[in-house]
This record gives sequence, C-alpha cells and structure tokens, in this order.
Amino acid sequence: MAEKKKKRGLLFCVCLGTCPSFKDTNEYEVLNAIRREKLVDWVGIHPQLCSTDGDEYLKTLLSDSNVDELYVAGCDPVMQKKMFRDAFDAAGFDRDKHIGIEVRNMKTEEVIETIKKAIQERDR
Ligand code: SF4
Repeated sequence: MAEKKKKRGLLFCVCLGTCPSFKDTNEYEVLNAIRREKLVDWVGIHPQLCSTDGDEYLKTLLSDSNVDELYVAGCDPVMQKKMFRDAFDAAGFDRDKHIGIEVRNMKTEEVIETIKKAIQERDR
C-alpha cells in the first residue's frame, strides 16, 4: 500500500518583527520560496508564538488537526520545546511532531536553505 503523504505546516515566528536577530531576513520571501517548491502544505507567520495569544493560536491551529509535522522557524529549538509545550498538550498535539528550526542572525537565502534542509532531513 502506498505510504500516506505527511501533512506539513511551517510557521515563521518573527519575534515581534523588531528583533535584531531577524534584521537581515525577509520572512515573506522565505515563506514564498518554500511554498513555490511545495515543501509543506501550508505556511504562516506569527509575531510572538511564546506569548499568551501565541499559545491560543497554537491551540486553535492544532486542536483536532491532521498535522504530521509542524516546523517552526525562529529561535532555539530547545527553547521552543519548552515554550510551546503547554499549548501542544492542551491541543492534544504530539510534541514530537514539532520541529524547531533556528534561523536567527541569518540572511534570507541562508534561512531558506536551513529550512529546506530541516524538511528534507525528515524524508531520509
Ligand atoms: S517563540 Fe522564539 S522567535 Fe518567537 S517571539 Fe518567542 S523568543 Fe521570539
């Protein structure tokens, strides 16, 4: 039987849009590059996923969802795991389906390549 295609989503957390760590990154260009290559099923952008309304956003997005892999480009993946844990648990979303990608202090092209690599690594 053919293997079911994984449902993949990509969120870019832009750290309020004012964080110097993202000053060399055009987040829209990044998301469009990933969309053009159809590497994920959907993309989204959020200004602060580690805030209270960020928790609400994750809960709403992931409750009863069919998401197999949730990529979050932003800060350190270990920090992400800690910050999103409660929202994932409240949504009934398996924490292991979250793949954090560190993209701070990179230029746009570098961010695109880093995200592509993270997604492609899961296919190996
Ligand atoms: S989740 Fe990370 S990237 Fe997003 S606002 Fe919080 S610290 Fe910044």
